[in-house]
Amino acid sequence: MPAVTVQDLTVLPRISPPAEAATRRPVADVVTAPRAFEGEGFPVRRAFAGVDLTLLDPFIHMDQMGEVEYAPGEPKGTPWHPHRGFETVTYMIDGVFEHNDSNGGGGTITNGDTQWMTAGGGILHIEKPPEWLVQKGGLFHGVQLWVNLPKAQKLTTPRYQDLRGGDVGLATTDDAGVLVRIIAGEIGGHQGPGSTYTPMSMVHATLAPTARLELPWRADFNALVYVLAGNGTVGAERRPVSTGQLAALGAGDVVTVEASARQDGGTPSLDVLVLGGQPIREPVAWGGPFVMNTRAEVLKAFEDYQRGNFGEIPAVHGAPTQVVEN
Ligand code: MN
Repeated sequence: MPAVTVQDLTVLPRISPPAEAATRRPVADVVTAPRAFEGEGFPVRRAFAGVDLTLLDPFIHMDQMGEVEYAPGEPKGTPWHPHRGFETVTYMIDGVFEHNDSNGGGGTITNGDTQWMTAGGGILHIEKPPEWLVQKGGLFHGVQLWVNLPKAQKLTTPRYQDLRGGDVGLATTDDAGVLVRIIAGEIGGHQGPGSTYTPMSMVHATLAPTARLELPWRADFNALVYVLAGNGTVGAERRPVSTGQLAALGAGDVVTVEASARQDGGTPSLDVLVLGGQPIREPVAWGGPFVMNTRAEVLKAFEDYQRGNFGEIPAVHGAPTQVVEN
């Protein structure tokens, strides 16, 4: 799992251990992500399936894309499709993903890069591996998270940000047993680069066997721990978790994760994504690619999309501008 790696963790700044009196968050629920296929058929795990939306708030949906080793000619992406009413955060751990949208945003993300797209009032986009990767095949592994927008910002102007892996905030624990990558938010005085309309934190941590991580966590944020690979325990009561499981935590000041002494052969460490944000506490109406407050707003989004109000699909160099049939 490359993402951003560091050879010698002892050179990194330390996250101070939380006070003894701080409240370690308990586990409210643990679910196992079902496997599914997205877009033109790439395998995903639906990380939040079956979790109460109030525990997820301000998050809506998350897919772990892969991890999969594609044969030559096999990699798949999505066709052009619309979104409205939320933001997507796409974090690439292994492999390469290309993005283009009707707002003129676009780019390639790879090993530890993150792309933030505010769909706002409406955007069309396409997400796919580059052509050379399709021909060559290779490893593909990433995460896409949907962050809700509050009612007042659902129709905001679309926006696109690319964050390079090198911008990610890096820190470790006192015993240097954990690599903490801060992708968004502030953790114990260490800052990550990402910014969304809804305040949130996102951390990718790699724990050596038996290592323990205590992350100071804003009490007004929710807290979710998703296991990308490996096994260990989460929360004050040390609930066992393993690859593809999500723990939603209750109230408190500290998120606790511990790696088991024995890890699977293929994954020498425990890799987790820790997420939290300020709950929006508004009604959620979610239909397909649209996340709004009411059913009528979702139907309106489908209508607007069908009328072509989400913008134009940009011209692709060399591609016909009229429909060609033969
Ligand atoms: Mn999409």
